[in-house]
Amino acid sequence: MAKPAILTVDDDPAVSRAVARDLRKQYAEDYRIIRADSGQEALDALKELKLRGEQVAVLLADYRMPNMTGLQFLEAAMDLFPRARRVLLTAYADTDAAIQAINVVDLDHYLLKPWHPPEEKLYPVIDAMIEAWKAAPDRPVADVKVVGHRWSAPSFKVRDFLARNMVSYRWYTTDDAEGRRLLTAAGLTEADVPLVVTQEGKTLVAPGEAELAAQVGLTTTPASDFYDLVVVGGGPAGLGAAVYGASEGLRTVLLEERATGGQAGQSSRIENYLGFPDGVSGAQLTDRARRQAVKFGAELLTACKVTRLAVQGSARVLHFEDGTTIAAHSVILATGVAYRRLHAPGLEQFHGRGVYYGSASTEAPSCSDQDVYIVGGANSAGQAAMFFSRYARRVHLVIRAPSLDASMSRYLIEQIAAVPTIVVHPCTEIVGADGDEHLERLTLRTVDGTERTVDSSWLFIFIGAEPRTDWLEGVVQRDARGFVLTGPDVAAGSDHLALGRDPYHLESSVPGVFAAGDVRADSVKRVASAVGEGAMAVSLVHRYLVEAQ
Ligand SMILES: Cc1cc2nc3c(=O)[nH]c(=O)nc-3n(C[C@H](O)[C@H](O)[C@H](O)COP(=O)(O)OP(=O)(O)OC[C@H]3O[C@@H](n4cnc5c(N)ncnc54)[C@H](O)[C@@H]3O)c2cc1C
Repeated sequence: MAKPAILTVDDDPAVSRAVARDLRKQYAEDYRIIRADSGQEALDALKELKLRGEQVAVLLADYRMPNMTGLQFLEAAMDLFPRARRVLLTAYADTDAAIQAINVVDLDHYLLKPWHPPEEKLYPVIDAMIEAWKAAPDRPVADVKVVGHRWSAPSFKVRDFLARNMVSYRWYTTDDAEGRRLLTAAGLTEADVPLVVTQEGKTLVAPGEAELAAQVGLTTTPASDFYDLVVVGGGPAGLGAAVYGASEGLRTVLLEERATGGQAGQSSRIENYLGFPDGVSGAQLTDRARRQAVKFGAELLTACKVTRLAVQGSARVLHFEDGTTIAAHSVILATGVAYRRLHAPGLEQFHGRGVYYGSASTEAPSCSDQDVYIVGGANSAGQAAMFFSRYARRVHLVIRAPSLDASMSRYLIEQIAAVPTIVVHPCTEIVGADGDEHLERLTLRTVDGTERTVDSSWLFIFIGAEPRTDWLEGVVQRDARGFVLTGPDVAAGSDHLALGRDPYHLESSVPGVFAAGDVRADSVKRVASAVGEGAMAVSLVHRYLVEAQ
């Protein structure tokens, strides 16, 4: 973190330089001395410091400056750094004005020019200012900063993207004083949010995910245009494939649309994955897998949505949303599944404003002492119920079935039963949502047709996941629900006939294109099987590459 700043501004360059020189002599070891020749220049410097999350300890301003007086400057500076101590430099004739200013701009001190010898007249004053500032400093903020509306879908999307990619950030609403200060420093208004300020102080207004990813240091573009293996999807299957592919010497790149970790990355605690007797959070598992893949030399790209697959001779070409392409000898499809939309009158309008698909862990602290509703009866919903029970007053688990027995693991059913604040609502559906700025009420209907409306601002949906494989239409064979067919399930007459062999076990209808994990038809929807299939697909890639030589 940079040293806190002491800023001095005087329109007389000679005086300005002299003050800065004396300050540097005494304070340069612990403070950065910044000098400006006008109020505007000083304000611009302060705005930059604010956006970079740095600290300002003391401001010294000359009283008589053209265009912007010292008082006007100090007043404006208070909007950016209210805790910086403020000193006015005055000539003897202006003493009265300085005394009056003590109340107007909450001045800490006025200093008469000339200030020589500084040991007697300047340093004792600055020492006192620094002491006062240290007692109540503003905190440096090295993280990315996000300013947005509390109930805004675009603001949620930005926070969710950063959280899932494990980019630490500070969140300020437009009601927070610091949020308003950041908007002022960026020269923006409430209408411009969400505002993202990078660690370097760069401002992004309502950025798209690709721009955001690139600016916060995630890799978004490939280093090469041809690879041995392209893995599409960064969940457990894709990360497993990247680790094994790269560790076995294949030039490997992984393309992820949103955030590595996939569904597993959203899990608050995976308790049945081999080797983690106390459970592991999806975020931890993802972080380890990412590091492992990178260690072996795999490239991991984020905010890269693949939109088309084409076969060009022996090359498999993948197209991105922006029209660019990447090619490889082989491809592993590991695009998993995504939650199905829940359809009920009024629900869609609150997506990102009280209605969330998946865990949305960023929202958990805001749920404290409130009633949270979760829809779904599988393990993912059960984990979410356990997770939110740490924050919410009550968690309501809404399921269509008469019990959780058929859909949830026994260990989770037992955990849920042991938490008195989790209530299971069997044979129940959400049939309506209502609210103003955000979700405020839900309508529930039980199997006998009885409806009731409950107050709640939080609904998390975990229902029937489906593959998103439309982009493979006409290229790769899929089943009626869109899952990729592999091995013996591939219909006869596929492109393999020319090779004189049947598709390998995880190979799709296109030679050299494999599928692993949840996206594969009839796969077991588990972290362990996804990782295992990712590894297994790599060994089949080797076989294919030998054959293709
Ligand atoms: C909340 C939750 C908790 C769970 N808990 C457990 C548990 O405790 N134990 C267990 O064994 N299993 C658990 N599961 C299931 C497990 O997470 C999944 O079976 C596993 O993640 C599947 O891995 P995958 O790599 O096949 O797919 P996914 O995890 O779905 O990952 C697919 C990835 O591909 C990306 N993608 C999709 N389309 C594209 C595209 N066109 N271009 C680029 N990228 C794309 C997606 O963004 C996603 O990141 C849980 C699931 C959830 C949601």
